[in-house]
Order: sequence, then structure tokens, then C-alpha cells
Amino acid sequence: MTYDLTPRPLNKAPRTPAMTWPNGARSAVFIGFDVDAETAWIGNSPSNIDRMVTTSHGGYDARVGIARIVGLMDELGLKATFFTPGWTALAHPEACETILRAGHEIGHHGYLHKMPDRDRLDETFEEIDRGFDALQRVFGKRPVGYRAPSGENFPELIAYLARSGIRYSSSFRDDILPYRHAASDGMPGPVEIPINFAFDDWNFGMSSRASPRPLFGREAVLSLWIDEFEATHAWGGVTTLVLHPQVSGRPMRWHLLRDFLRHVQEKGDVWIATGEEITNHFEALERHRGAS
Ligand SMILES: [Zn+2]
Repeated sequence: MTYDLTPRPLNKAPRTPAMTWPNGARSAVFIGFDVDAETAWIGNSPSNIDRMVTTSHGGYDARVGIARIVGLMDELGLKATFFTPGWTALAHPEACETILRAGHEIGHHGYLHKMPDRDRLDETFEEIDRGFDALQRVFGKRPVGYRAPSGENFPELIAYLARSGIRYSSSFRDDILPYRHAASDGMPGPVEIPINFAFDDWNFGMSSRASPRPLFGREAVLSLWIDEFEATHAWGGVTTLVLHPQVSGRPMRWHLLRDFLRHVQEKGDVWIATGEEITNHFEALERHRGAS
């Protein structure tokens, strides 16, 4: 494999002109959960399948985390998007069905949580197809949103997602407003709802023997999240959360997430929406711009 390192903008998607949010809201919040379960531990390291303690980090999802998170959303009256790998849905159909029954959106998050790899296109596309098949089988529904497992993407995959019916992606880190991907094959790409890496709870709340990281407590994380949210709100952007039930479904982190979401709700002029709702809104604005 040779690499084209010519200086050029690597993301050719045009920037979105200033954006308005529904109901006069100043900013939007997109609550996204990644229901990785054990796939976070076996997708890129299949030998972990025989390490029950290592994979038990992910086992927390089905035993405790999903139910606690769905309960929290219910308590606060919020709807979220749950990006679910196909393997998780097949391994834990009962826990996953509670998500759909509570009225949340199910998004695509690969099949076995393998990181998309441009050097292995066939394997990458197979992850997409198998993910669709599994989610369709368990939920009876084809998702329209995609978050890349281990957060990677490239032009061929963006085009493949659009051809597969994916209307939006939520993985990139290069904006505070949604934008439309420019797919390399000439077709319009999906909408991107970019994430803010400060809202990936894995960074502060997950440590293991295989990948030890420092853990951060309530005050550090809550103040970071509130400050990032307040600043994004002032700029009229979208605050996209990248949460994991095996992290934020843990007792202390569950309480801290509840306090953060209450802070957001108390703000009043914030539109809290699922990925599909934000995409619908973005596309309505596109049609309006096209018509004017
Ligand atoms: Zn994930």
C-alpha cells in the first residue's frame, strides 16, 4: 500500500452555513450511546474471547448497564440513539429489545466492532452488511444512523454507507455543526453529526489491565462536560455525546451523567434530539436553502 500524502483538504465536505435549531433553541444536544458490550474487547482482539474476565467489562452492559441507562432516560423523559454492534444484538437480544421498547433509536455500530480499515475493504464492507442483517433480525428495523466502531472512516466507506441507506454518520471531530459528506463516487454522502471527544466517557471512566488509563472522578468530568456544553451552546453548535453503558452505567458515573443531563435540561433553550431527528431537521434546512 502506498499513501498519497499530497497536501490537500482531507475532508472535502462543504461547511454548513449558520444553522437554526427547532423551537428557537440556541443549540442541540445529541445523546449517543455505544452499546459495545463484549465487542469492545473482542472486535480488534479476537483472542480475548477466551478471557472471561477481560470481556466481563463488556458483560456489564447486558447485566446492568443497559437497563440502568434506559431507566435514566425514562426518568428524565429523554430519547437517545443507541449505536449497537450486530454481535451485541444477537448475543443479548432481551437487553437490546428494552432499548427499542422504550422508544429509542437504534443505530449501526458495525458487527463485531472491528475498526474500519482502508487496507481491508472487503472485511470492512462485510462488517456493515452483517451489522445490518443482525440488527434487522433482532429489531425488525433497518437503522439509518452509523457510528464507526473505534471511530474510523475513509472515502470508500462513506460512499458504501450512503449506498446502503445510511442517512447520517456520527464519528468525525472536525466541526460543531452537522454537515453533508461529499462522497467520492459523486453521490451525496450521509449527513455528519460530529462528535466532541471530550464527551467520550471511555476517556475518563474505563481502565483495564490490557489498556490501563487514569480514571477521573465526578468533579473533573462534570466540570469539563458542563464547560464544553456551555461553550458549544454559546456558539450554537451540537453537543454530541459518546457514552457507553459499560462506563456511564456504572454507579458513580450514572449519577454524574444524570446531574449533567439535568443541567442541560434546566437550560431550557436546548434541543435534545436523536440522530435521526437532527438529520431530518438538517435535511429540511437543505431543502429550504435549495428552494430559496
Ligand atoms: Zn463502540
